[in-house]
Amino acid sequence: MTTQSHQTLANAQPEELRLREQVAACTLILNAEGLMGYSGHVSSRLPNRPDHYLIQPFEVSRAGIKPSDLLVCDYDGKIVEGPKGTRAPAEVYLHGEILRARPDVNAVAHFHHDLTNVFTLVEGVQLLPLKNHSIRWVSGIPVHADPSHVSDSKLGHAVAQTLGPHHAMQIRAHGQIITAESVPALLIDCVHFVENAVAMYQAATLGKVVPLSEPDIAAFAREFKRNPHVAKLWIYYVGKGRTAGYLPNEWDLN
Ligand SMILES: [Zn+2]
Repeated sequence: MTTQSHQTLANAQPEELRLREQVAACTLILNAEGLMGYSGHVSSRLPNRPDHYLIQPFEVSRAGIKPSDLLVCDYDGKIVEGPKGTRAPAEVYLHGEILRARPDVNAVAHFHHDLTNVFTLVEGVQLLPLKNHSIRWVSGIPVHADPSHVSDSKLGHAVAQTLGPHHAMQIRAHGQIITAESVPALLIDCVHFVENAVAMYQAATLGKVVPLSEPDIAAFAREFKRNPHVAKLWIYYVGKGRTAGYLPNEWDLN
């Protein structure tokens, strides 16, 4: 760790230190669960600094990220704080422009899950909410037509425009973007988004796919409590990560 990153953490508020541990843990869990591979990133808006967010650097492995590795970037994708000599991920603009456009969003994940992305590759096929937890995406799952890396602010702005008010989208022939109100909620949404896509792919091999109906959605929405569900699954995945040995016990993930 460089002098600069020591200073970053020494000056950090307890809320920021906790958020750093959450972002690092979320990235490690997404990697361990096979959702995020060698590229992809999790970002989270900083408390008391809503126009700045944490995100991992370009070169640090998604399988070994630490809280002190994380950069603080602005909406334009510029590094404001971070270990000396590191650079932001090439697609930092995707995070900056979505966080700029959506004050209701505090955490963003971008990853490249191939089977989920298959739904952007076949004419006339659309990823639909099938499983109960996919009611999160009943407003729509837009597909961004331009498969380019989101490597500048203009491209990031176009992605944010495609996302609109929704909570998830896909980039054609590229990957996924999930948004949520917190890092634990983001992890759980990523898990359910991929579960739903895998279920739809598997169901389609058996016959005609039947999406959730309006009454199905209304019935599940009536009984569903998002915060306890997020807390339960976050505890589950953190526990699994600690048992497997890749999440340090000293990180505050409760
Ligand atoms: Zn990407």
